[in-house]
This record gives sequence, C-alpha cells and structure tokens, in this order.
Amino acid sequence: MFDIDKIISVIAARKAKTVGLQFPEGLKRRGPDLAREIEARAGVTVIISGDPCYGACDVDEGLRDMVDVLFHFGHSRLLEDDRVVFMEYYHDVDVEAAVRQALPLLGTRVGVTTTVQHIRMLPKIEAILKAAGKEPVVRPGDSRITYPGQLLGCNFSAAPQDVDTILFVGTGNFHPMGVQMATRVPVIAADPFTGEARKVDVERIMRQRYAVMAKAMDARKWGVIIGMKPGQQRLELAKRIKATAGDAVLVTIREISPERLIAFKVDAYVSTVCPRVAIDDVSRFNVPVLTPVEFDIIKGLRKWEDLAFDEIRGD
Ligand code: SF4
Repeated sequence: MFDIDKIISVIAARKAKTVGLQFPEGLKRRGPDLAREIEARAGVTVIISGDPCYGACDVDEGLRDMVDVLFHFGHSRLLEDDRVVFMEYYHDVDVEAAVRQALPLLGTRVGVTTTVQHIRMLPKIEAILKAAGKEPVVRPGDSRITYPGQLLGCNFSAAPQDVDTILFVGTGNFHPMGVQMATRVPVIAADPFTGEARKVDVERIMRQRYAVMAKAMDARKWGVIIGMKPGQQRLELAKRIKATAGDAVLVTIREISPERLIAFKVDAYVSTVCPRVAIDDVSRFNVPVLTPVEFDIIKGLRKWEDLAFDEIRGD
C-alpha cells in the first residue's frame, strides 16, 4: 500500500520534526492510520491536509510551509519542490482480461497509454499485444509527464499519432476522450476493474461543448479564471485571453463553484485552471465556462473542427 520504510527514511534523512501528508480523495480515509504509524515509528508530529486534492498540480502550499516535509500521495512528480516528496500509488489489479477484450478492436500498430496507477503494468500490456501480433508503441511525454505512456487529464503528450489505434488502460472517460480529440486517432479504452473494453465515442462530449460555446457567442463581459494551485497557474495565457476578449476581468479562484462564478456578474468565463473543471462540472454552472481552446474557436483564432480538450503542456 504505502511505502512506509521510504517515508521513515526520508524523515530521518531530513531530520524532520513535523510532517505533512496530502492525499487524493480516494486515499484520504487511509490517512489517520498512516499518520498514527508514522508518529509511532518516527516520533514526529503529523498533520494531514483536509482540503480537496485533485492532482500533482494541487500541492497544499499552506501545509507545506508549516511542516519540514510534505508527502503528497497518489500522483507522480509534476513540480520541482524539495519540500514535497511525491509518493506514487499503484493499483495492482491485473490488466490482462481487459487488454485481451481490447485485442479484436485494435489495429496492428497500437499506441499504449495509461495513468500512473497502472504504469507498472505497461510491460505486461506490451507483452500481450506482441503475443497477439500487434506492434505496441510507447512514447515519452513532455516535462510534466514522468513515465513513457503516462497520461494526465491535462496532458496527452505521450499519446502517439503515427499509429492505427491507441489503447488506453484505465478507468473513466475523460482521458480516452481527451486522447482521441488530441490525436484524432481511434481510442480503445480497456478498464482493468471491469475487464471490459470499448471503442471511445467523442460525439456526445463534442455536441455538449459546442452547445456551451454557442451560449457564449454573444457574451460581452468576460471573466478569465486564473488557478491558484501551483501546477495550474497560466497567467500569461489568461492575460492573452483578456486582451482578446475586450471587456474582461481576471479572477483568481482556488476552488471553482457556481456561487463564486455568479458573484462577478459576467456573461461567460474562460477557465485557465485544470482543464477538467470546465468539462466535468458543466452541468453545475449557471454561466458558460469555456476552456482556452474553445474561447479561441469562438473568437475565430482556431477552426471549429479543431476542437480538442485543453492541455497544460510542459517543455
Ligand atoms: S491540472 Fe487537472 S488534470 Fe492536470 S494534474 Fe492537475 S488535477 Fe490533474
């Protein structure tokens, strides 16, 4: 589960007295037991971050500044910060059944992608594909990506385009839809938890996004949202959008909610924070919230047929 020996050795090496723990939502319930164990073994004071945590971009800077070292669980390193130790978390669920289900849906040359939770299964996925006569292609991503083949919800740079099909191994729709829209290559999603595989369909999400964009076409007053989480800040992009929008205000928001958006009395927003927010939370918002890509389309800076999910790219 957690590499407690590594945690103890980091604490000892840094002579830490106060230690922070930060978990994504799915792991938070394990926090108290881990905190007790660390306190008992290392003789330190442990503080758990109780705020939401959605990704490696989302380091609790307040807690980090309060402790000698902050352990951030569940995500691979995205930011360079000596005070934060990223502790990856892997699902050991077997991928074989799902990948075998995917085989009839795949072409010959197959791009292989997954999230960090299943990254240790990549050699096995490649072996299954090769045994079935496929040619797996695993590519490194940019500087925000730790492992070849790894995806983030905001970064599909490890997805190859020179393939017949892309295999995504993992759960949920967001990553495989994002890959398909970024690469224009058909994506097959194989879910290790259900053992099922399916062809990804982006029609519905594209219709939904076009509808949001259409509502924003007549907006006169714009709000441009700047993220406060360290790995989501894109100030230069926000300034460029403000200049294009005309009547626009820049607004910082740490956690976006419908109530916070209503307060500023603007007709539409462009969100430069985590690209998932505008898309996943669309039904909660009372005003259109566009991604920067969508804003560029309605302003004629990009073609409508080039609609894709927003990405936060590295170097
Ligand atoms: S910006 Fe969003 S998708 Fe990217 S790492 Fe952060 S939470 Fe994940």
